[in-house]
Amino acid sequence: MSKSEDGLDLSRRDLLRIAGGVAAANVLGAATWGALELMVPSTVDAWHKSVCRFCGTGCGIQIGMRDGRILDVRGDELAHNKGVICVKGSMTRALPYVEGRLTQPKVRRNGTLVEASWDEAMGLVAENFKKIIAERGPDAVAFYGSGQLFTQESYTANKLFKAGIRTNNVDGNPRLCMASAANGYIQVYGKDEPPGSYVDADHADCFFIMGANPFECHPPIFERIRRRRAAHPEARIICVDPRRTLTAERSDLHLAPIPGTDLLLLNAMAQVICEEGLLDTAFVDKHVRFSDGEETVDLPAFRKFLEKYRPEAVEAELGVTAPQIREVAFLFARSKATMSLWTMGLNQRVQGVALNNMINGLHLITGQFGRPGATPFSLTGQPNACGGVRDTGALSHSLPNGRLVANEKHRAEVEQLWGVPAGTISPKVGYDAVSLFRAMEDGRVQAALVMCTNPGQSMPAADRCRAAMDKCFLVVAEAFADSETAQVADVLLPAALWIEKEGVFGQGERRYQLVEKLIDPPGQARSDLAILVDLADRLGYGALIKARTPKDVWDEWREFSSHSYYNFKGMTYDRLRAERGLQWPCPDESHPGTVRRFVEGEDPFVTKGAGFEFYGQPDKRAVVFLRPYVPSPEKATPDLPLYLTTGRVLEQWHTGTMTQRIPELAKAAGDARIEIAGSDAWKLGIKDDDRVEVKSRYGVLQGRARVLPQGRPGLLFAAFYDAKLLINRVVADNVDPTSKQPEYKVTAVALRRLEA
Ligand code: SF4
Repeated sequence: MSKSEDGLDLSRRDLLRIAGGVAAANVLGAATWGALELMVPSTVDAWHKSVCRFCGTGCGIQIGMRDGRILDVRGDELAHNKGVICVKGSMTRALPYVEGRLTQPKVRRNGTLVEASWDEAMGLVAENFKKIIAERGPDAVAFYGSGQLFTQESYTANKLFKAGIRTNNVDGNPRLCMASAANGYIQVYGKDEPPGSYVDADHADCFFIMGANPFECHPPIFERIRRRRAAHPEARIICVDPRRTLTAERSDLHLAPIPGTDLLLLNAMAQVICEEGLLDTAFVDKHVRFSDGEETVDLPAFRKFLEKYRPEAVEAELGVTAPQIREVAFLFARSKATMSLWTMGLNQRVQGVALNNMINGLHLITGQFGRPGATPFSLTGQPNACGGVRDTGALSHSLPNGRLVANEKHRAEVEQLWGVPAGTISPKVGYDAVSLFRAMEDGRVQAALVMCTNPGQSMPAADRCRAAMDKCFLVVAEAFADSETAQVADVLLPAALWIEKEGVFGQGERRYQLVEKLIDPPGQARSDLAILVDLADRLGYGALIKARTPKDVWDEWREFSSHSYYNFKGMTYDRLRAERGLQWPCPDESHPGTVRRFVEGEDPFVTKGAGFEFYGQPDKRAVVFLRPYVPSPEKATPDLPLYLTTGRVLEQWHTGTMTQRIPELAKAAGDARIEIAGSDAWKLGIKDDDRVEVKSRYGVLQGRARVLPQGRPGLLFAAFYDAKLLINRVVADNVDPTSKQPEYKVTAVALRRLEA
């Protein structure tokens, strides 16, 4: 047990109770929603509407202030999360006051970072960028951003680099978490972002949760699922995950495929659906087209493609029995409304796009689409990866509102909207995350601005990434002085945290929410927008970056969006201030926002009488792809006989730069461990807490073991929040050929016990 600063006893059990609400209460003996139980009696002057800083659930919160300080945080009853938040959200009250904030710019002199003025630091940044651009061309510099920047910041960075500097070397950490989901949606519907909403969880009768652990990583969403299940006992929760996660433990069915094989499961489910007459032929005939990726094929070709995925043919390689596959296929197709939820387990894969194609495809062939509760839904990890990076096109291959760098018409449209001469935007796709750090390694990229992210810890094969950054003139805008990335910076710029500035977050269900400034940043810290505007001026692009306040940038971006199907021109600042966010499309100020896309009567772009209309595709039909299963390059071998998979835990978030500093969360989660099944531990002579060595093709590290008696044989797990363990040093950097997203979830490793 530990004492919080408010004198409350907190243990991991309490924190699980907070996160899991009544779901956890059933297990742990609590009866009510823990966050409320642990709420400090408030003596605040006023409550302010805001948004949680952490994950893509994007929970609405109320921040209680007194005398200019945050005293308390609680869930916002009027927001989409209906007052429910998890322990990380409730602990945001401590975040601005933690130790280790960076308060003054620093520059590296003779190998050491020393304090400098803003003018000195930014002068050095501009001087180096200008020199490198002049000598090596614009593609020798890069921007590496984050799904945690505000939309205004990602939009401005994208515009500065693509239309000012004229390089498409703009990428960021959403490449690591959702590029496969984005590509999957674009290929299937012609447009990115989920068609449904969180509210669908209140209507579904079958929850197909695959490669996600919402009990720990998106707790308010799992709580919504649990409440639906409790009120409708016939509803079923299916969890597909190689690990027996806390979500799997609370599901009706847990399927545990061998890591890297689960496209076999989706294809086998499709085979059963076709063979057993579970196809929704009316929906398919009217709204679906089949494609092998090159050309359109017909339904018989789809059936023929699936023949080799009969459950009995794949069960051994998949590690799931044929009867289980059939049961799940029937539940998926026959339930009144099926909602699929997935995240990194599908996205962080060399077949991530294929998996995303196929899970959407299952909804399309069964007609589990567009009705309340019937929807595919990719969960997301960061507060603004969707609204900030995907929607603004702040990735190396993309342009705003779903346009592509490689498309001449799209470049021309964006050039016109930004008011820059034709031909300004380079037709050359920039470096994606993994290739960007490779380009730093061999000198193709010589200067980079990294904002609001920590690639030194979050990239796979992390040692190689850090060494590459060391070779580059690295500018890092960060709130904290000691992240793994900050440590190798040449210039370190102190950045404000979310409520120390103003901006808009767009969470996982196309909902934009305004975050207002409530407190001043410490010392000389500035907003990332202010840093970008300063850089634009110093590089000579002040006329391009005319919008300089969060509201002005938002208004420019709103107007820009009105030239697309993403249209959210109706989301004025006044509306965002008054409402709990709005979901796009939202084309005018009287529009209420769109809960379900592509559905007549809900989506403003669907033609009257069409029922459904996939207007992002030329023929207005969604595409079901024939995607063959290809084994991961990370196959276990006699030398590397185990699979390592990585992820999050409830109490920590991403690389832990924020949550590790909050004492209650740090104590609850402790140091990250290498989790190993009891049977493997016995074979290797490993006991709980033993020091162990993990070795892969990418690196080697040491840590402590946690033995899970019921763990899955052959599988290791480690969370990536802990910089001391830094598990990404051994994680594979194989990427999906289309999305370029790395396969964090499958690395072949060896494990051995170290002597004391
Ligand atoms: Fe914050 Fe995510 Fe927890 Fe909601 S679920 S409170 S957004 S960390």
